Amino acid sequence: MLRYDLHCHSTQSDGLLSPTALVRRAAERGVDVLALTDHDEVGGLAEASAVARELGIRLVNGAELSVSWRDVTLHVLAYRIDPDCPDLLEGLASIREGRTARARRIGDSLATAGIPDAFEGALKFVTSKSLVSRTHFARFLVEAGHVRDVKEVFQRYLVRGKPGHVEHRWATLKQAIDWIHVAGGQAVIAHPGRYKVTASAMRELLSEFRELGGDGIEVLSSSHTGEQSVEFTRHARAFGLLASSGSDYHGPGESWVDLGDMPAPSGVDPVWKDW
Ligand code: AMP
Ligand code: MN
Ligand code: MN
Ligand code: MN
Repeated sequence: MLRYDLHCHSTQSDGLLSPTALVRRAAERGVDVLALTDHDEVGGLAEASAVARELGIRLVNGAELSVSWRDVTLHVLAYRIDPDCPDLLEGLASIREGRTARARRIGDSLATAGIPDAFEGALKFVTSKSLVSRTHFARFLVEAGHVRDVKEVFQRYLVRGKPGHVEHRWATLKQAIDWIHVAGGQAVIAHPGRYKVTASAMRELLSEFRELGGDGIEVLSSSHTGEQSVEFTRHARAFGLLASSGSDYHGPGESWVDLGDMPAPSGVDPVWKDW
């Protein structure tokens, strides 16, 4: 059986490893099929594909799109997209566009809470132009000694109700699915267990996603508990969605689940069924 990891990040977004280093690590760890899914960005795929070809592993052209649904931020994974598709590239650029202005507002919010110069601090960690994310703020907050690690940041800062949180409108769910489909890919809801929504809102989300043509949900994720994996496997079957699995690896020392460490879905059709 092949080993799949369909969710990870490189320095093209908020990962710590270059596309080359990431693919090498995946190959060393026995991954057969790796999807590089940088946030709102496909700029690492060419490099990753070239290295994957050299090492004899399969690279899936992916991305992770930021979406606003109701008042919730969702992430939608794209698999097997054409990275040169103009509609997709334009869509991704439009999502990235708002990030810098948002980062300034995050900096202002942290300043109000007594943490100055966070915008400049976060920029020092940015490795891809116009792709400043909360992860970069998190690294700054750790470096400046405000928290112990990145995980703790997201308990005390940058999330709703805490300093450094700002509202932001990303793409709509329909836009994200349409861009992915125009680019020939599959659209998959990332780590559904992470969204703070009621059980009925989750069912509404999944049925709306399905109606819009969405293809799958990530049932196995480093963000999920065992119970959540079981719950979302059941949801995948009930809503006629394919099931995906990924580590969401961001780099050594920051991700406790390494590349290739998530098992394959069971009792449900995997997203790679027809690959
Ligand atoms: P952004 O797209 O700028 O809102 O940043 C979101 C990123 O922050 C995610 O992709 C993760 O890398 C990171 N993140 C969000 N929540 C957490 C969390 N609870 N623990 C660790 N990292 C998180
Ligand atoms: Mn991330
Ligand atoms: Mn995500
Ligand atoms: Mn991710």
